[in-house]
Amino acid sequence: MKQFTTGFIIILCASRLSAQFIVPIDGKQNVDWFLVNYVDRDTSIGSFRDHRCEDLTYDQHQGTDFVIRDFRQMDSGVKVFAAKSGRVYYTHDGEFDRSTQPDSGGYGNFISIGHSDSLYTIYAHLKKYSLKVHIGDSVEQGQFIGYVGSSGRATDPHLHFEVYHNGVIIDPFGDHCPLLPVAPSLFKTTPAYENEFAIIDEGFINYLPSLNRLREHPAPRTTFSNTDTTIFFWLHGLSFHYGDTVRYEWRKPDGSLWFQYGFRYDTAFRFWYMGTYINGPAKNTMDLGSWHINCYRNDSLFKIGSFGIVPNNSVAATTLPVRYFSTYSNNELLFAPEADLSTDAALEVFSITGAMITQFKPNQLYFSNHEYHITLPSLPSGTYFLRVEDHNQSSTQSFVITK
Ligand SMILES: [Zn+2]
Repeated sequence: MKQFTTGFIIILCASRLSAQFIVPIDGKQNVDWFLVNYVDRDTSIGSFRDHRCEDLTYDQHQGTDFVIRDFRQMDSGVKVFAAKSGRVYYTHDGEFDRSTQPDSGGYGNFISIGHSDSLYTIYAHLKKYSLKVHIGDSVEQGQFIGYVGSSGRATDPHLHFEVYHNGVIIDPFGDHCPLLPVAPSLFKTTPAYENEFAIIDEGFINYLPSLNRLREHPAPRTTFSNTDTTIFFWLHGLSFHYGDTVRYEWRKPDGSLWFQYGFRYDTAFRFWYMGTYINGPAKNTMDLGSWHINCYRNDSLFKIGSFGIVPNNSVAATTLPVRYFSTYSNNELLFAPEADLSTDAALEVFSITGAMITQFKPNQLYFSNHEYHITLPSLPSGTYFLRVEDHNQSSTQSFVITK
């Protein structure tokens, strides 16, 4: 009886709100962005459910996570839009936007907007210095307000979209859970509810990455030498369900099995990374030619990856692969190569006239999350270059100092 009364009140509240939001992120669903976590509709601590009575949320999650593919896509700029016209109530900017840490930082860089109908929306984890609006600005529905980032309490670049009605968190997707009356979605066009297995991206690399490095989607390689000591295959995808099994078979050019690895999922994962690798072949023992990895889920083949093994002396490596490079503050550079540098690598800073200003060895630098933090001396405004050399590979990056 009590439950029925509560449900009746929800009907009354919900019926006052019509479908009025647009989707607050640019691009296509399941191509450019993915719905990973919805609002936790179970108010008790320790349990959770989404608006479909399913598990695409986590305990106490108060918004909807529109997750993009990776940091490379974030770097290219993914626009966030105002879901509805209104007035900017608050903004916060200036926070580091490449977080992979789930433990602190709150909303990071964010915008909140007050709307008619006692609605209020929050757009969180935005890219640093990407906010296009100020407190008090009027915004139109669909207006570009900032870029997706990974600032604050975020492990992957995504937009956390939060909606309040009369000061209370609501789920813009409504409620379709059979134990409660149905509340409608607030979206004019509601994104599809998806929980299907799919692959987002994959690739081979010649080192063992950390999970955070996989989040960068390392530049793929398709050719390795027979002296590479590690060949690692990674996959990034959606929706492994409880009880799913996987098996990965590494096959030699003649088709025979070199190594296989399998396991069973005892937890569901909506957004996942996995990797399998072969390592330590004694020099010249890997057969030359085209190798394959066959990937099975619940015994059906879902992916075949292939790579070539060539003799060591035919691999000409000259460019040092770089994940990203940025100026972190006016005198600090962040340099993140694909693979950690060896101890005898050299990092040199040059002026635009080619004069060397300063140089470092990797062990002289602060190193965290596979990023080298280079603190520069005070320099006049202008264009400069960072050159990094490691064995026979090198990379040159330009940057600008402004005062
Ligand atoms: Zn979230």
